[in-house]
Amino acid sequence: MLNENIDVSRLFGEDVFDESTMRQRLPKEVFRKLKATMNSNKELDSSIAESVAAAMKDWAVEKGATHYTHWFQPMTNITAEKHDSFIAPTGDGTVIMEFSGKELVKGEPDASSFPSGGIRATFEARGYTAWDPTSCAFIKDGTLYIPTAFCSYTGEALDKKTPLLRSMDALSEQALRILRLFGNTTAKRVVSTVGAEQEYFLIDKSVYEKRKDLVYTGRTLFGAPPLKGQEMDDHYFGAINSRVHSYMRDLDNALWKLGVMSKTEHNEVAPAQHEMAPIFSSANAAADQNQLTMEVMQKTALRHGMVCLLHEKPFDGVNGSGKHDNWALSTDDGQNLLNPGKSPMENVQFLTFLAAVVKSVDEYPELLRLSVATAGNDHRLGGNEAPPAIISVFLGEELDAVVDALISGGTVPKKNSEFDLGVLALPRFKKDSTDRNRTSPFAFTGNKFEFRSVGSSQNVATANIILNTIVAESLKQFADELEFACAADGEAVNRAAFEKALHDLIVCTFKEHKRIIFNGNAYDEAWLEEAERRGLPNLVSSVDAIPHFEDEKSIKVFTEHKVFSEREIHARTEILLENYYKTINIEAHTAVDMVKHQYAPAVMAYVKFLCDAALSKKTVAVDASAEIEAAQNVTRLENTMISECTELERLLSDTGALSDTHETAVYFHNKVLAKMNDLRAVVDELESIVGGEFWPVPTYGDILFSVK
Ligand code: ADP
Ligand code: MG
Repeated sequence: MLNENIDVSRLFGEDVFDESTMRQRLPKEVFRKLKATMNSNKELDSSIAESVAAAMKDWAVEKGATHYTHWFQPMTNITAEKHDSFIAPTGDGTVIMEFSGKELVKGEPDASSFPSGGIRATFEARGYTAWDPTSCAFIKDGTLYIPTAFCSYTGEALDKKTPLLRSMDALSEQALRILRLFGNTTAKRVVSTVGAEQEYFLIDKSVYEKRKDLVYTGRTLFGAPPLKGQEMDDHYFGAINSRVHSYMRDLDNALWKLGVMSKTEHNEVAPAQHEMAPIFSSANAAADQNQLTMEVMQKTALRHGMVCLLHEKPFDGVNGSGKHDNWALSTDDGQNLLNPGKSPMENVQFLTFLAAVVKSVDEYPELLRLSVATAGNDHRLGGNEAPPAIISVFLGEELDAVVDALISGGTVPKKNSEFDLGVLALPRFKKDSTDRNRTSPFAFTGNKFEFRSVGSSQNVATANIILNTIVAESLKQFADELEFACAADGEAVNRAAFEKALHDLIVCTFKEHKRIIFNGNAYDEAWLEEAERRGLPNLVSSVDAIPHFEDEKSIKVFTEHKVFSEREIHARTEILLENYYKTINIEAHTAVDMVKHQYAPAVMAYVKFLCDAALSKKTVAVDASAEIEAAQNVTRLENTMISECTELERLLSDTGALSDTHETAVYFHNKVLAKMNDLRAVVDELESIVGGEFWPVPTYGDILFSVK
């Protein structure tokens, strides 16, 4: 499909009940109140719900919608929806389209089948969805989608949106305290902004359907390396093939209609791998839009006869997929607090926020690591293609020099500062002067941080909940200290005292947390040792990382900022561990099934073929030693394959003694996953020697080059 005749500015947001639509359709006073609700993140004024619901319904019905749904993000990585139609009986056998304020604001889906981590027993099935007016409603497939938060009857969050909104509130509150000290009296809210770059693979549907592992687990559990992989580095930013190109055009159109600002698309490092980057928005809207993006990507692919793989590691030995979480802080009047700015005053404020972020990452690396801990992402982290499991911060040469100067008390060249804070003012700083370091998990990229460890299939809410909360905590400590210092002389803000306290605070913070800053190559083996010397944690797998959710200091920071209650933390830890081992359980069963029903019969047929060939050679007295040796070799591997498979089955059935979720997750990591790797090794070896026409499934080469 060509885009030439498409008026993008009209198309954009066509199916979204966005601000301009609201302004057009709502009475002035209602719009004003709704806007106030949106800006303050407070509950909706109930007096306007009826009016908003009616306008929303009329708009949706005009656009052909017949149903509405409260759309929410339960703690598994998907979105959930239950559709209701707008129809209401009139009493004379006919119906009208109706939608009340109550239906807009609150829903009551049966919550019993969603994971709650023990918060809600199944007999207390009631759960509530509550409209989130800060994220726009939209129409998809003839249905009005209303973004909602999902909580239990007793008020605990059962979703990812609720804690994200709470963390945004916490961050705003603390950031505003800092801004007030800097003399900013106008900002009313500070919002964390997020741009989530989405990587994905596209493969032809026909090869996908022949791979049970892709169908059931999203990744290949077996597969010898292809003859050509990514060693030529010829795919990154390469010319986009026409089928993929038309997919991307279609995807853009679909996303634009839904108000998602899809901006750039390109080929990624691996064959068949691509990326889409949107323009950033508030963390909450970005999380909703990214969930939507993933769904639209998959649906659009099917329409093009392809399948979009969002798994973090669909192919072993080939680059995996991540989701770079670009994160910054913005005031409601549009100032990016991570922008170094032009004047020294702005620089100092920037350095304050920068110091807060560095401190947060150094104090809570375990939380950042666990925010990206999934069975899928474990295959990617530390694999010399993605950041290691060790969390560190990259600042770039220029900022690093500033930090060094601050720590050593040296000077950084600065321009005519009218706000003298010693060496705190930055030299003129250009965005592009931060060079690229693709190996760092957490990199400063000019006016934002980029958290690169997030997995491609993950809901970005999780990482941003953690980031917002830990930065809120650092800002809180800063604000406590600075307010105390300023007020010491009894004035509202004593400038001299503030300057002195701020200077000391920033220098002290960088001194204390310098160990987290690493500008070198994080893929390098030497970094592992260096990080250990620095005392940075290396939580290699999800089972190492997840339990840190329940550390005393984690509970303290989450409860202090009212992001999670202790009960919610325990529940979420359970769910993360459960998701982990359930994923491996499905993978292991799929592996066993493929070996028994596909690989073993194929290998047997091949052995028979070799034996038949040897026999027929022998009958005419021709030397059959090649066939005999090959048959013996394949048989030896076949026996190993069968015994590894039997052992894997035994491990899967032998779980009776496991007493809790953590123990189960560790068992699946140490035993089941390890055995799956043993089994894979022998199957992959067989793949390299068994005759091509005997191999029962498409190979890596077939799959990675299937989109022609
Ligand atoms: P880079 O050159 O560092 O890759 P881009 O301008 O291409 O930066 O942006 C990459 C992603 O970062 C995009 O999704 C973009 O919208 C997002 N981004 C840019 N600025 C911000 C910001 N202030 N906050 C959050 N995300 C941002
Ligand atoms: Mg990037």
